[in-house]
Amino acid sequence: MTSKIGSTVLGHPRIGPNRELKRALESYWAGRISEADLREVARELRADTWLSLARAGLGSVPSGTFSYYDHVLDTAVTFGAVPRRYAELGLGALDTYFAMARGTSEVPPLEMTKWFDTNYHYLVPEIGPDSRFSLSDRTAVEQFREARKLGVETRPVLVGPLTFLLLSKPAEDGFDPLDKLPELTDAYEQLLRELHRAGAQWVQLDEPALAADRTPRELDALRDTYRRLGDLAERPAILTACYFGDPGEALGVLAAAPIEGIALDLVTDPSTQDRIAGAAGLSDKALVAGVVDGRNIWRADLDRCLTTAATLLGSAREVAIGSSCSLLHVPYDVDAEPDLDPQVASWLSFAAQKVREVGTLGRALSEGRDVVATELAEARSAIADRARAERVRHHRVRARIEALRPEDSRRADYRTRQEAQQESLRLPPLPSTTIGSFPQTTDVRKARAAFRAGRIDQSTYRQRMRDEVERVIALQEDVGLDVLVHGEPERNDMVQYFAEQLEGFAATENGWVQSYGSRCVRPPILFGDVWRPEPMTVEWASYAQRLTDKPVKGMLTGPVTMLAWSFVRDDQTQADTARQVALAIRDEVHDLEAAGIRVVQVDEPALRELLPLRAEQRPPYLEWAVESFRLATSGVSEATQIHTHLCYSEFGDVIDAIVALDADVTSIEAARSRMEVLADLNEVGFQRGVGPGVYDIHSPRVPDAHEMADLLEAARAAVPAERLWVNPDCGLKTRDYAQVEPALRNVVKAARQLRS
Ligand code: GLN
Ligand code: ZN
Repeated sequence: MTSKIGSTVLGHPRIGPNRELKRALESYWAGRISEADLREVARELRADTWLSLARAGLGSVPSGTFSYYDHVLDTAVTFGAVPRRYAELGLGALDTYFAMARGTSEVPPLEMTKWFDTNYHYLVPEIGPDSRFSLSDRTAVEQFREARKLGVETRPVLVGPLTFLLLSKPAEDGFDPLDKLPELTDAYEQLLRELHRAGAQWVQLDEPALAADRTPRELDALRDTYRRLGDLAERPAILTACYFGDPGEALGVLAAAPIEGIALDLVTDPSTQDRIAGAAGLSDKALVAGVVDGRNIWRADLDRCLTTAATLLGSAREVAIGSSCSLLHVPYDVDAEPDLDPQVASWLSFAAQKVREVGTLGRALSEGRDVVATELAEARSAIADRARAERVRHHRVRARIEALRPEDSRRADYRTRQEAQQESLRLPPLPSTTIGSFPQTTDVRKARAAFRAGRIDQSTYRQRMRDEVERVIALQEDVGLDVLVHGEPERNDMVQYFAEQLEGFAATENGWVQSYGSRCVRPPILFGDVWRPEPMTVEWASYAQRLTDKPVKGMLTGPVTMLAWSFVRDDQTQADTARQVALAIRDEVHDLEAAGIRVVQVDEPALRELLPLRAEQRPPYLEWAVESFRLATSGVSEATQIHTHLCYSEFGDVIDAIVALDADVTSIEAARSRMEVLADLNEVGFQRGVGPGVYDIHSPRVPDAHEMADLLEAARAAVPAERLWVNPDCGLKTRDYAQVEPALRNVVKAARQLRS
């Protein structure tokens, strides 16, 4: 008889409530602590997590949600998918693992990429015809036992076999990792048997790849795999978790499979709920209803969650309460935010609160609403308070949005703009520029930290930043760049800097979320209608402009990127939120223009990041993304030159959108792919200025002028010289002046070489 799940979360943060794991990892890498010390920190973190989940009354507690770096890498190691070049280093198990994650002096690390549409990054396994799978690492079994010793029966969690291979990259061209699925399934079977012998009642296999479009062949592979795993005689009950979106046809496949449970994300896509009634085969399974949002930070509407769960009651053997996905993507605890506005704090739920919400809902479902009446009432009043709060719905912002007309997002025709801009800027052919930031020196960081901590006053701080701007302008003049920047010394982060100055955003102190390995980010919380109380960047840009006769480019972050790197509100569409942010940026662009800034860049490096997982949802996304950029940038005269900057290596899915942005100049990452993007842009009829990066800023290497000139030649073969700009791939803030200065001299040299 399969045990009940009752209530559970699909996963948990692991970096530590005070980033203990980050500190321990970095100390270990620096050689300051031993492997045993690191393992001890990890063991404590796991124990704390299990015990707190058990104490919160969850019916089923996950294990295996801890990772020293990344759970996809853990899965690769579990099944022996370690590329030879790492195995050959002859390191111990943990150091081999870190070699794959971070590289060594001899080998570069595995590639890293975004985990679906989150801001978490995983290491991409490499699978080739020679890959052999076997159960090589028994951490999953060991941690199950470790938890049991603490008195907690857990449900080991693993990345499922289909998702694992779909996320892998072929070790050689033309190979399809999915061909290895039968072999990999053997190894999973072995693990399931061992977990069973250790006493595990349940195992969770995560298949988020089912939230994206899947081919008939992939669905067949899903069917075969879960039939095989299900037919295994000695194994734990299998819970397959689908999250980050609607599983589509895959739900029918899983419902018909001989497994015991399916976890569904009932937050991301409302159509998933409707699909459940039609899924034959669910009635003998446990359905974990993911009604508590696992990746956003809003307090759950418990009444609504209960209603949803209640409507599902007849459709499955057991309806359990769950988080929509792992809680990996939210911070630990709202109570660790003493400085957060109490009203805003009362609307929030981080991991600790979500665990309680899930527990409360579980009890309500099994014992009746009365036993948790207090919790339900509290949630109800917080939800009501948020719904009527003035700062959430600001009448002036609403009125402005109402009054928008289509022409507010349109500029004069490009020819007119081009003439007016040339008249005003008088730039040489192939103008050179940079992407915005200059190296953030220790002095700059120290000054910012000192100002924040109140150790220096505002005027001292301003003076230090002005000194820095002066240095950056002098350097650019000396190097001979054509369009200058102020260097962004005052910005800690391109999103947080603006979020701190806009109404409608809140910042956290401890709200860290793992981005990759030991790296964490602290996304701002966009809780209410957004507006700009006063100019945000005009002072810096105009100060810089007073120091030079060359045009200084104002530097702003675009609406899509502001949304992508924040927690955003769930009470209106992203399109509506983006429009408000766009208006705030539009005000800033306008004020920059009024202050004599003739070039303004609005960065959208995250344009591709918010791209929906399913193809059919992409056009509406791209429409609002483009619209918000245009709204932000169309409020200026034709003589003001609008730049944008995009940096990712694959542009395919957004290439039409880049055209539609209608920026006068687009600077774009291109050095590593040797200008490939230009051909793609030509194909869709792009006719604006373009600055393909001639220098890869991700590496400390300084390319010489010839190398850059070669790239420029390649660019000129694709784009007429009148449209070509010369610039690095991205901002320079992570580099040192020792690299930046010679590199920029080479950029200018290469531009001059091509001009003559
Ligand atoms: N203007 C920003 C900078 O130069 C752009 C950063 C980015 O593209 N991520 O730092
Ligand atoms: Zn960039």
